[in-house]
Amino acid sequence: MKTDDIFYDKDADLSKLEGKTVAILGYGSQGHAHALNLKDSGVEVVVGLRPDSSSRPKAEEAGLEVLDIAEAASRGDIVMVLLPDEKQAEVWDTEISDGIAEGNLLLFAHGFSIHFEQILPPPGVDVGMVAPKGPGHLVRRQYEEGHGVPCLMAVHQDAGGEAPALVLAYAAGIGGGRAAIIETTFKDECETDLFGEQAVLCGGASELVRAGFETLVEAGYDPRLAYFECLHELKLIADLMYEKGIQGMRYSISNTAEYGDMTRGKRVIGEESRAAMKEILSEIQSGEFAKEWIAENRAGGENLARMREEGVGHPTEEVGKDLRDMMPWIDQKF
Ligand code: NAD
Ligand code: MG
Ligand code: MG
Repeated sequence: MKTDDIFYDKDADLSKLEGKTVAILGYGSQGHAHALNLKDSGVEVVVGLRPDSSSRPKAEEAGLEVLDIAEAASRGDIVMVLLPDEKQAEVWDTEISDGIAEGNLLLFAHGFSIHFEQILPPPGVDVGMVAPKGPGHLVRRQYEEGHGVPCLMAVHQDAGGEAPALVLAYAAGIGGGRAAIIETTFKDECETDLFGEQAVLCGGASELVRAGFETLVEAGYDPRLAYFECLHELKLIADLMYEKGIQGMRYSISNTAEYGDMTRGKRVIGEESRAAMKEILSEIQSGEFAKEWIAENRAGGENLARMREEGVGHPTEEVGKDLRDMMPWIDQKF
């Protein structure tokens, strides 16, 4: 494994953040974790929220100073944008950009807005990324337990020569340096993230589950059995892969399952699926996907709402709800 682009706490200098105010815009999954971890690391933090935001009391109860977005953007020497990716450009135009002065560091946790040029920061401003490879609650919990979640870092614009050290200090401040901070580019983070969620984690996995479920149900099998075999047990397999990789998972399953896996899997994900993956990747690389997603949002998100509605009607939903009710250990809160 390449190691010259991996950093740890020993490589980061948190004193780079001394005397600076970090403004965290948004207090959702990532926002609350970054704000609280930085505060506990001794960094001066303010949080920027909409006046009517339901997160206001939560942030205030946690001892954080909460300002309106524009006020926070202007107060921060370092401004981390933790708003939904599809909203960032609009909020940048209306509330953030005026507050970003020369010498400030503008940060993101995902490359979308910068890589697809939805936000064009002025020259003279440092632009970087700190992207934890885990959801916010994990970033917070790991920090509280004395550990950290690995982070990707990148520098898009280095106006004064200090950007890499500042970005690294921020990543260490949220706990990333206790695990590993891996340097990359906005382009690579953004394109691989989109590809992973479309082809494998979300798009690929959902359709694989549905196709398997439908195959069994159409062949006359009990939908409850189909649900258990094709959806419910996916977690067991994913947990094994997460903990030990594919070979480790194969070691833990039965020999019968392992033999079936190795002789049948390539027939399910064959040449056609691999060709589709390449096509999906090239739509990401060319900007075609980004263009489509931005247009969808500009048009009010009608297709997104319709597809959500259609998804609710899928037979896995109804049978799944009944079966999950029988398994009280499953946390059904979203
Ligand atoms: P989120 O949806 O959990 O939180 C977004 C926050 O922005 C909320 O506080 C919300 O109230 C606020 N908000 C929404 N619309 C707004 C608007 N128009 N004006 C002002 N505030 C608004 O988002 P998140 O998952 O924390 O994602 C934030 C960033 O972190 C994104 O760039 C995302 O790609 C990145 N990221 C997320 C994860 C993850 O696991 N959730 C992991 C790594 C990176
Ligand atoms: Mg993503
Ligand atoms: Mg089985």
